[in-house]
Amino acid sequence: MKTKVLNIEDLKSDTAQSALAEAGSLLRSGQLVAFPTETVYGLGANGLDGAACAKIYEAKGRPSDNPLILHVADRAMVEGIAEDIPPMAEKLMAAFLPGPMTLILRRTSIVPDRITGGLATVGVRMPESAAARAMIRAAGVPVAAPSANLSGRPSPTTAASVLRDMDGRIPLILDGGACRFGVESTIVDCTGPVATILRPGAITREMLREVLGGVKLDPALVGANVTPKAPGMKYKHYAPKAPLTLLEGAPAKMAAAFRRHVRHLQKEGRTVGILASDEVCDELRDLVPDELRKSYGPQGDLAAIAAHIYEALIAFDDTAADALLGEGTTETGLGLAIMNRLHKASGGNTITI
Ligand code: AMP
Ligand code: MG
Repeated sequence: MKTKVLNIEDLKSDTAQSALAEAGSLLRSGQLVAFPTETVYGLGANGLDGAACAKIYEAKGRPSDNPLILHVADRAMVEGIAEDIPPMAEKLMAAFLPGPMTLILRRTSIVPDRITGGLATVGVRMPESAAARAMIRAAGVPVAAPSANLSGRPSPTTAASVLRDMDGRIPLILDGGACRFGVESTIVDCTGPVATILRPGAITREMLREVLGGVKLDPALVGANVTPKAPGMKYKHYAPKAPLTLLEGAPAKMAAAFRRHVRHLQKEGRTVGILASDEVCDELRDLVPDELRKSYGPQGDLAAIAAHIYEALIAFDDTAADALLGEGTTETGLGLAIMNRLHKASGGNTITI
């Protein structure tokens, strides 16, 4: 299959409008379309068509017990797929939608079993991205979409990275430029007595607390030895090809710690890549060549770090690096989402400095 990439950055233009119409008709006819959102690129299918959704699992190599999130354009579409919507969900929708948040709600019978991994619930997301909502409207149905990467790999935040993983597997990629947030949506389970974060994201725990008062974190997120409530969270994820080790600790001590660990690995004959702040990358100029130093932004600039981590991880796959060292950051605010992804990408391999 030949994969076409169509630019829709100028959403009102005729070319973008005809690309969206093409996407809509592909989706309605059971095909897959990759599309931009404000978080990461999604790999979409008609969410009410089980056979179309099966193609998502096939294209990604995704385990069949890992449910798909349904993307909607408006409130009417929410009513079609979810029922018994509790007051906490109403409050969250009023405060944060459209936006980078997914609500777990009780599902209606039109949601195909195939996409929920056998659960009685469904993940519902209304993206802030005007391009994403325009595509869903063009399709006229809720769009099931996981991130548009091969299973286990970092999520794409540019159309070029989608093409890398999906070339030849899908007919169309809509190119809307780089994604604004860069980490996946916050998943909030609204089916229990207290709202529970199953996956941290750009809508932070602090923001949710302000609206709801009480918010829990799924115990699996804070290291408890229990099965995560979001089935996808149990899998290895976001991994670059070379193994990644995280350095965590005081920002002021990072550059010196990187220097020690890089030297040690280089002595063992390893080609070391570093994924770190501007500050650390600058400090290590003499030790690590340019192409092996990928900066994710200034130390502590969480929005910049979130927007850049996946592309930086992916970029190492084109280098000779056979060992990667990454710089950890705070776990407050957006940092919780960043560190959740970095811990997964590193398979829990952390050195505390
Ligand atoms: P992605 O693969 O990037 O789309 O991530 C989707 C995440 O949402 C995965 O971790 C899924 O396991 C999770 N998810 C989707 N639907 C549900 C659901 N009904 N209940 C709990 N988690 C869900
Ligand atoms: Mg994913």
